[in-house]
Amino acid sequence: MKCPKCGAELTALPVQDIAVDKCQSCDGIWLEYGEIKKLRSSGLARIERELEEEHGNPPTPQAPLDGYQRCPQCVDQGLRSNYISYMLPVRADHCVSCFGIWLDRLELDKLLEDKQLLDTVGNDNELKSAIASVVVRMQQSE
Ligand SMILES: [Zn+2]
Ligand SMILES: [Zn+2]
Repeated sequence: MKCPKCGAELTALPVQDIAVDKCQSCDGIWLEYGEIKKLRSSGLARIERELEEEHGNPPTPQAPLDGYQRCPQCVDQGLRSNYISYMLPVRADHCVSCFGIWLDRLELDKLLEDKQLLDTVGNDNELKSAIASVVVRMQQSE
């Protein structure tokens, strides 16, 4: 599979029982449908930073290219950008056909942090909705 942002070949790296497809050129990550849910419930918090420690960083991370945003699996399908988090603003590109998602560098770790923050709040729905409205305002002001 090719990176939807820079066109480099993606490398499958194991994280628990999931093969995470990572671009070793721009450092983004492709997750197939359902994988993000598994990773968010795995209790892991620093997947990307651990992968970097294990497999190294790209020597000079490529800036993602806008315009080259095709689903690596469906190829002729474009990607759409959306916020996919609750507590921290994380914007991801997703495929409306296979439901895979693309995360730029360190967005996966931010998404895991988002899950931990969500767990901290627990069942305090009042606090949850207060934080959610702040996040919405942050997203709108971008
Ligand atoms: Zn790339
Ligand atoms: Zn797709």
